[in-house]
Amino acid sequence: MNSAVLGYAAKAVGQELEQFSYMQPELKDYDVRVSVTHCGLCFSDIHAIDDYYSITTFPFVPGHEIVGHVSEVGPAVSGLKEGDRVGIGWQGRSCMQCEWCLKGDNHLCTDIADMGVWTPYGGFSSSTTADGRFAYPLPASMPSETAAVLLCAGIAVYSPLRSWATGRRLKVGIVGVGGLGHLAIQFAHALDYDVTALSSSPDKEGEALALGADHFLVARDKTVLKKMKFSFDMLLYTGHGDNDFTSLLRTLKKNGKMVMVGFPPQPFAFEPVDLVVYQLSVVGSFLGNRAMMREMLAFSQERGIKPKVELMPMSQVNEAIRRVKEGKARYRIVLVNEPERPGTGTD
Ligand SMILES: [Zn+2]
Ligand SMILES: [Zn+2]
Repeated sequence: MNSAVLGYAAKAVGQELEQFSYMQPELKDYDVRVSVTHCGLCFSDIHAIDDYYSITTFPFVPGHEIVGHVSEVGPAVSGLKEGDRVGIGWQGRSCMQCEWCLKGDNHLCTDIADMGVWTPYGGFSSSTTADGRFAYPLPASMPSETAAVLLCAGIAVYSPLRSWATGRRLKVGIVGVGGLGHLAIQFAHALDYDVTALSSSPDKEGEALALGADHFLVARDKTVLKKMKFSFDMLLYTGHGDNDFTSLLRTLKKNGKMVMVGFPPQPFAFEPVDLVVYQLSVVGSFLGNRAMMREMLAFSQERGIKPKVELMPMSQVNEAIRRVKEGKARYRIVLVNEPERPGTGTD
């Protein structure tokens, strides 16, 4: 039913979220309606509230690490029924027609900017609507808050690590020990990399090692980075602050690559000549396709990979945003709709 639901929306660029009642979109043939129990808070939500990507329409209901129960299915949906617990990540649909969708890489859909689950309204709400092909059934014993974070932060770092894992103890440097980085360390360890965590905070050493890092470096220390010249086969950049990219890139072995899943706020500089003479690559990686998502969820369950999560009630969303902006979250915040609705949806 196309009923009214209650969410939290930014009414204009950069504003605090307010309670917002709205009519849900019509259910299309392949759509599912999901009664939201949990939704993670990702830095991309904050970027979108600030319209950093220039794609946000207001009022804007953020939220794209969604777990809940299917409350309604469109006539063409297969494999999902009312009551199923599912997870939805950033991608809520795709055109299914472009060259990328046709070859199964829907996350690279030509129209990707319009395909976020937050269009028209995201997961900071009692209910959301998405194409059922992007609603993933979850392993029964996986906690909802774990699944929520894996659906965006998890896939973002698993996909590049999995794509380049060759099983021979490649040396990877995980740059940044935060929401993305603390998961990347766990995945890289499980995928048999030799893992070095690089952080600007020396106090994260103990935790990084406990998560599975073999080594720890203070990334802002130029002399330390200098000593690491030609050390890594790969760097996975998970940060969102400024960094000394010239020094970082010089820690790569020849033919090495830096994969970016996070990015600094401004364009960054490095020595182009280093790329040429050391044959370095700087590449990006965006989420993953549906097969990779299913694999990542199963792998996480099998290997016990779990984000460290703080739970907060959905009504405290603005406080949660403040904590993330101030870098105080350890390491991800998941908002919970109270009371959690068991079994079947009630919309
Ligand atoms: Zn995200
Ligand atoms: Zn497409």
